[in-house]
Amino acid sequence: MYEARSTTAGRVFSAEQFEALDPALRSHHRESLTCTGCGAPAYFIRTARNGRAACFGARPHGDDCEMASTDGEGSAPGSLEEADTIVATDSVFVLQPSRSRAITHVTEGEDESSRSHRSGRRHTGPETERTTRKSLALNKLLRRLVREPKFRRSKATLVMPDNTSTTIRKFCVPASTVDASKALPRRLYWDYVSYVHEDTVRGGAWLNLSKRGAPGIRLNEGMLASVKAAKKITDTGDLTGCSFLYYGALTRKTTTDKYYFAPQDPQWFIVRLKKQDADR
Ligand SMILES: [Zn+2]
Repeated sequence: MYEARSTTAGRVFSAEQFEALDPALRSHHRESLTCTGCGAPAYFIRTARNGRAACFGARPHGDDCEMASTDGEGSAPGSLEEADTIVATDSVFVLQPSRSRAITHVTEGEDESSRSHRSGRRHTGPETERTTRKSLALNKLLRRLVREPKFRRSKATLVMPDNTSTTIRKFCVPASTVDASKALPRRLYWDYVSYVHEDTVRGGAWLNLSKRGAPGIRLNEGMLASVKAAKKITDTGDLTGCSFLYYGALTRKTTTDKYYFAPQDPQWFIVRLKKQDADR
């Protein structure tokens, strides 16, 4: 994005103006940059050697911030990767299960303490980095995977429920890239459902991907009812074209030796209906 507000300077800077500041002043103000659209903490990216103009980014923007689409605007090839790397070193997301009704609170504890440590070394120069530690519910994670290609490649840290750390890029796997003839460990599998097959004999349904050889999703009667209730739909066919996110491993089907997804816990399997991303 081309502008950002500095709360310490009490004004909005264009990237060009910000770059022209005295280096000491610039490193002072860069700690307080925020997005003019949503108020999220922002960072400054100086003019690159490849000629990409100076700009600002935010980590990450608030929902529906109109400035989000201008991150990396007018950039030279390779600069998106560069911006991702910057997000990566800064951001820590703490994965939370899906909560359809409860309000998700941002984990502030560590953030506050690291912020006060930082204020003591505000003048150490441009290398000083800020860490934002945010809780990320499954629903929000899927929304970002679907809508932000840059986010899928992000090397941002993802803290799992067992407290192990990984990255978004490593752990979030598009299910259509998976071969259903092989066992795979627990990951965050996501993709799009291309057709739905109701199981009139055993109840529940199969959600299938368009890619041949990719694993399907078997929802038992209880899971199907829970997914439909969460999305407020009565027709199973409305799941056609939805995206899904599942935290789990592949299950082996004994009759065919093929693997598939068999979610059992509504907290770790969610969908986004096609119409939720109609403006995509
Ligand atoms: Zn913003």
